[in-house]
Amino acid sequence: MELFVPATFCVPEIFLDANATTPVLPEISQLMEDVCCAQFGNPSSPHLAALTPKQILDTTRASALALFNHPPGQIIFNSGATEGINTAVFSVLQAHLGQDCTGKFLLYGATEHKAVPEALKYWNTVLQLGAQLIAIPVDSRGQLDLQFLGEHVADALIVCTMGANNETGVVADLPALNQCIRKASLRVPWLMDCVQVLGKVPLDLTAIDVDYATFSAHKLYGPKGVGCLYVHEQATYSPLTVGGGQEQGARGGTENVAGIAALGRIFQWLLSSSSDLGKGPFASMTKLQNYREQLLNALRVLFPNLALNQPYPDSLPTTLNFSVPDFSSAQLISMFDAAGIRVSAGSACSTGKPKSFVLDAMGLPAWQSEGAIRLSFGPATSAAYIDSAATRIRELAKRVNAIDPTLRGLLVPQPTASNFTVYAVKDAERAQLYVFGHQDDHADWLAGNFPTAVWNYIDTHELTIDDWHLSRSPDQAMSITNRRTGRSVELGINGVSFTETEKQSVDVIALMDIQADVDCLVDVREPLETAAQPIIAPFHHSCTASRAEWIRFLLSLPERTEGRYVTICRSGGRSSVIAALAAKLGAPKQYSAELGVTHLLQKVICSKA
Ligand code: PLP
Repeated sequence: MELFVPATFCVPEIFLDANATTPVLPEISQLMEDVCCAQFGNPSSPHLAALTPKQILDTTRASALALFNHPPGQIIFNSGATEGINTAVFSVLQAHLGQDCTGKFLLYGATEHKAVPEALKYWNTVLQLGAQLIAIPVDSRGQLDLQFLGEHVADALIVCTMGANNETGVVADLPALNQCIRKASLRVPWLMDCVQVLGKVPLDLTAIDVDYATFSAHKLYGPKGVGCLYVHEQATYSPLTVGGGQEQGARGGTENVAGIAALGRIFQWLLSSSSDLGKGPFASMTKLQNYREQLLNALRVLFPNLALNQPYPDSLPTTLNFSVPDFSSAQLISMFDAAGIRVSAGSACSTGKPKSFVLDAMGLPAWQSEGAIRLSFGPATSAAYIDSAATRIRELAKRVNAIDPTLRGLLVPQPTASNFTVYAVKDAERAQLYVFGHQDDHADWLAGNFPTAVWNYIDTHELTIDDWHLSRSPDQAMSITNRRTGRSVELGINGVSFTETEKQSVDVIALMDIQADVDCLVDVREPLETAAQPIIAPFHHSCTASRAEWIRFLLSLPERTEGRYVTICRSGGRSSVIAALAAKLGAPKQYSAELGVTHLLQKVICSKA
């Protein structure tokens, strides 16, 4: 599909979110295509077409065992780590069916991927065991509290830990864990989630006495939906699915042969790189550490005061986790996104404040947990890719540092639950700040945002500064009027309210039509985001909005009755509110961009793929 998009939106993507997933490498996708098209036989068939598919399963199984140093157990192919975790938990817990497990523990690391506690909770409920879920605390470096673990192991039905953490890259001290668990109990089943550790630091399953270990292909350049579970020969096992007896009856369902072929190629590459044959795409640990250092140096140009949220360098050489004072994860992600750099928060949370339970468990301050950014790359990343990522971050630093910190004119902060106050900044050279409202209401906000400014509290209900006339009613509603244009707006505690008719006056414009005959693009994104990806021609003019600068902009619009004004922001929600406000103020016909910038960016990426 041909899709017109403004050229300035087309920033080539730099993907630095490899702990979430990785792209399938061309060699792997070619291999999978060959298997799907030419070796499509069912490995369980009784004829010759089954031969190569069956060989693929056998070879991959053998490579996996070789890679883990031939531990005494079997490899079962499945859909990935979540299934592996569920299978292991089910296997262990179903053996206690019918028993009263009150007083018994289901132990898991406090920073475990949520698949682990969720699986424990689910199977404990379904099997009606009544065991108690207990999170093993971690210290400030993300390492499990071994004393706590040692004290609880004897009464545990299962212990679940992880090889490396997906948010912070903290690598578990496996010898110490092994000693702690096995000293307390030789028999307690031990599940280790090895998803993030494989391919990044050496893993030897004979050095630790684990019963189950999970792996997933999509974290290492394979496809999504395929992985494997290692099961020790003495561990209890019970299949989650039964059917045609595949995987020696361990997992019913025809195997994903192409995906398993991909997994096999990844294992072979890892085998060859660990034996230093220099084959395959994976870089050595030293190289990966240097890459990470290079990115960190670039990030420090962008944010000299960034704080690392991980024990650096004792964490995966491919993961950086940091926070920047005064910035939330959402703000930073939007900024990086606009610059074409894909990163993630420590943990995504769809409602409320994003907070990282991993960083909380490590006892990091709230601002670090709420502002965490995870930047991660895969072990097959090239030096050229890291160079371009570092260059992009340095360019971003130049643009962000060029934001004019001097605030001028009328400034309208976000409405708060308690009050709505307008701050007027006048005469920026002298940094005089006129605050229209109660001193106590916003003292923290002022101190945080204008640490060096002098401000005056104006105890009045009417104020006129430059073009602006502000008045406040006893119920705290605020009226702002631009004396030049005569436009005015009423702001209540929750901002601006609209009648149904006013809301309907805004049309949503299809993204494809944005460039057609738009007279003005009103950019109401966060200032950091706008700076990271400025929108310029072909639009006639644009308003880049700092915080609520758009109110000033809209109130100052010249009297015009023609032209299309389109507001854009990250989600379509805010832009349609602002478009409605403009319409309320009698500004030219308003449109809001369909679903906002994020959607536009997604379309750009999809249309280029
Ligand atoms: N465990 C960890 C540590 C992970 O990072 C992930 C993926 O996000 C999973 C488990 C789940 O893996 P999968 O996507 O293969 O189910």
